[in-house]
Amino acid sequence: MAQTFEIAVFEGDGIGPEIMVPTVNILKKMAAASADYALSFTTHPAGAAYYAISGESLPQASLDAAGQADAILLSAMGLPDVRYADGTEISPQIDLRKAFNLFAGVRPVRVADGQHSPLKIPKGREIDFVLIRESTEGLFYTQGSGEVSETEARETLRITRDVSEKLFQFAFNLAQDRKVRRNGPGRVTCVDKANVFRAFAFFRSIFDETAKRFPDVVADHAYVDATALWMVQKPWDFDVLVTENMFGDILSDLGAGLMGGLGVAPSADIGLEQAVFQPCHGSAPDIAGQGKANPIAMILSGAMMLEWLGVKHDMLSLAADGQRIRQAVERVMADGVAVTADLGGAASTIDTADAVLAALDL
Ligand code: ATP
Repeated sequence: MAQTFEIAVFEGDGIGPEIMVPTVNILKKMAAASADYALSFTTHPAGAAYYAISGESLPQASLDAAGQADAILLSAMGLPDVRYADGTEISPQIDLRKAFNLFAGVRPVRVADGQHSPLKIPKGREIDFVLIRESTEGLFYTQGSGEVSETEARETLRITRDVSEKLFQFAFNLAQDRKVRRNGPGRVTCVDKANVFRAFAFFRSIFDETAKRFPDVVADHAYVDATALWMVQKPWDFDVLVTENMFGDILSDLGAGLMGGLGVAPSADIGLEQAVFQPCHGSAPDIAGQGKANPIAMILSGAMMLEWLGVKHDMLSLAADGQRIRQAVERVMADGVAVTADLGGAASTIDTADAVLAALDL
């Protein structure tokens, strides 16, 4: 009998519902064609619009349901005009990362053959690397509780041994896995600022200790500023990059830029038990309600969810379905058949999602 996986869905704000609906539709059709697994989707309230009417951004019932689900699928949350009393933005996605210890923010940066990139990619080179952003501490540690007086403001950067060890272990495991699948040479680069800050020297020392347990993977280091330069000059040299929360926040948008924009950049926040899958972009209120948001980042995030569930539950066909969705998206992008406005086309959200469905040929 097919195994059913419960998916907690957060449609969020702005373009969130517009890109979530067609993504869930694709995932449902994929599951319907499988004899091995079924997917059950339940939508839960959270986000800025919900806060505006209820005074709660992430109700306890939604948090509990997310914890009980097999995976969490989230679009985008936050609206510029809806803020907490201290002026900070509503961001339940960050609360979920903290609540479930989702320390590994996984941001694949991939430009498949024929896909547009603002960079000129030399013949024989390929952009295909994964940026892992620590997602529970670093410079986000005091988020919402930084000290501000008339004359001074302070936030705290926190690096712990426990989280760093798990993070680096995750990065080395991923590099091993990519090496086996021939996606990468088996290399992890620790991105830091160890030449200036003691906290980053500590971060790097834990990385070096972890590296000793993975002799089949090359371990090296790069400063964050140099990494920004190399991501533009020679991104094809990277395999797995692992870094602190704020550095990763910034570099992952640069990675999205290499792929053509935020509309095509997926992500996952993964812990030891639970994981959230969501696009790198925000709620894009400037284009909300117009049906022109690019759904590709959301669809690719759904594909990452299937791959993660497949590996976690040892179900090869589920993981393979995630890869099939990714390949279908890559074909659509290479063919240039349904290009949304952010990439210079005129296709609607639904046109693009339909093109992916057609490419899947279910
Ligand atoms: P956040 O801080 O919540 O991550 P942000 O300030 O980075 O949000 P976004 O909401 O991601 O901002 O939007 C940045 C720009 O990218 C906007 O002009 C938006 O319209 C565009 N954008 C983001 N996502 C998409 C998408 N899926 N399709 C088309 N355009 C998008």
